[in-house]
Amino acid sequence: IKYHTASFITSAPDISKLPADAGIEVAFAGRSNAGKSSALNALTDQKLARTSKTPGRTQLINTFELDEEKRLIDLPGYGFAKVPIEMKKKWQRSLGEYLQKRKSLKGLVVLMDIRHPLKDLDMDLINWAVDSEIPILALLTKADKLKQGKRKAEVLQVRKALAELDADITVHAFSSLKGIGLNELAWKLDDWYLGP
Ligand code: GDP
Repeated sequence: IKYHTASFITSAPDISKLPADAGIEVAFAGRSNAGKSSALNALTDQKLARTSKTPGRTQLINTFELDEEKRLIDLPGYGFAKVPIEMKKKWQRSLGEYLQKRKSLKGLVVLMDIRHPLKDLDMDLINWAVDSEIPILALLTKADKLKQGKRKAEVLQVRKALAELDADITVHAFSSLKGIGLNELAWKLDDWYLGP
């Protein structure tokens, strides 16, 4: 699939305002600052995702299409310390609902900084996706920040931790900056969009 043909469709204020639940979509999620926008931009070779984010404001769900049947969903980053608890709860509810109910959702890319992966909110998200039987690609971002040995050890550790969940979860090191894991990302998306 030619990911550089991705084009913006809409910014939805919440799950209920997303495009019709048809075709196939893949969602990207991660803590704020995990490197989600950079990953989407690297994948599509475009400046798709705007990088300015204001904590505490209503965060929009950006949607992009590859063709009429295939969408990329950029979910709002989570984990901002300053966001009011009510907003956090609302977001958690709608995210859980999205993972449970969205029929076109065929895969979830979870982005985590390789230097501090598997935080509580990451695990919440991963567990909800597992409960809903959504396949997961966990990308350990900013892998260029670690030396080869440490990078490999971190990937193995995360793989081991997630293997406990006994679900369809793939883990790769990733760096938008150096192009690490970019092919693996595209291959996994191809799998999800095109089927095995
Ligand atoms: P988002 O909040 O998850 O969308 O994160 P961004 O893509 O905006 O990235 C957050 C910060 O991490 C920015 O300062 C980026 O320049 C930096 N960053 C993102 N990806 C990489 C990467 O692969 N390597 C390095 N070293 N920094 C990165």
